[in-house]
Amino acid sequence: MSVDKKVLQEFTLERDNELRFEVESKTEKVYLTLKSGTAEVFGTELVKAKTYEFTAGAKVAVFTWHGCVVEVKGKTDVIYTAKETPMVLYSNCHAALEVMRVEADRENKRGPIAMLVGPCDVGKSTVCRILLNYAVRMGRRPIYVDLDVGQGHISIPGTIARASGVIINTCGWIKNAGYKQLISNAKAFEVDAIFVLDQERLYNELVRDMPNFVKIIFMAKSGGVVERSKSLRVEARDQRIREYFYGTPKNSLYPHSFDVKFSDVKIYKVGAPALPDSCLPLGMKADDHLTKLVPITPNAGILHHIMAVSFAENEDDIITSHVAGFVCVTNLDTERQMITLLSPQPKPLPNNILVMSDLQFMDTH
Ligand code: ADP
Repeated sequence: MSVDKKVLQEFTLERDNELRFEVESKTEKVYLTLKSGTAEVFGTELVKAKTYEFTAGAKVAVFTWHGCVVEVKGKTDVIYTAKETPMVLYSNCHAALEVMRVEADRENKRGPIAMLVGPCDVGKSTVCRILLNYAVRMGRRPIYVDLDVGQGHISIPGTIARASGVIINTCGWIKNAGYKQLISNAKAFEVDAIFVLDQERLYNELVRDMPNFVKIIFMAKSGGVVERSKSLRVEARDQRIREYFYGTPKNSLYPHSFDVKFSDVKIYKVGAPALPDSCLPLGMKADDHLTKLVPITPNAGILHHIMAVSFAENEDDIITSHVAGFVCVTNLDTERQMITLLSPQPKPLPNNILVMSDLQFMDTH
């Protein structure tokens, strides 16, 4: 259903109902105002009479626990009210985490570490957001860890309160190496609970492979979650990289571009091709190739690649060191032996060790 831009629509929502809408076309904006009652968007409570703006691509759900009247202004591609939602289930998960936080407070222990897993487009990020918002509304300060390498939301975790715990978002890659990665993340973060969205097979595999003290909870996905096509996903990823360098329309950033001599940087790639056991040097495990560092001589193949600027002091520390941030190789001049970098901060680079990623970004700004 298409709604004319000037037309205002009013919706009266019964308790436990959800108004869902999508802002599809590139130039449109949609404005939402709560007229009466109470309502929330992915766990964030709406302030009465305040107007909220949603831009192209937004897929929104306005949920009410007690009933409300909302006004929507602008062109939406889809807009409907849903009576069936998994919100009670999600709020029960929040309540269970809160019980663990209260216990952690009482016994001065660390709070619950929960991980959200599931295939692509089942609402993992949305459920993380709901659980985080509910925790914050209770005065908690949980850490959000985003391991979704494809569609990440942050690059720095928030502030810590010991009992609040951690909510970990993961990536929709859940088969083979992706599954192995989930298991190793769960171990590395010493998770207490894993919420599995939508996939029973993944649920059963985790019940089989995780130790008994880790609670595995199956959750239905919301009927409102919208599937994104491959091209939309690529677009969203590009947009995130663009935002990293250039900011958002409301908060613009002005990146720097400068030349660096080939000889002034050391570029590495993590991971070498797998070798059969018989060809491995003595004492090396088959999996070691995954974290092997490969030095790269600047060549046309590094053009447009995103590189992490490592804080490592030498090659041996690279795998375990933090990164200062990211740069993009926008030009390569073999004659002058120079690369041009797009960087959030001016010259000089905080360190001369760069780690090349597979991600590529064409700077068309
Ligand atoms: P995942 O993290 O599993 O890939 P997301 O949480 O990013 O999935 O959800 C995919 C899209 O669906 C997002 O744009 C989100 O805003 C939208 N979405 C999630 N839940 C709802 C809902 N109940 N109603 C409408 N849209 C929703």
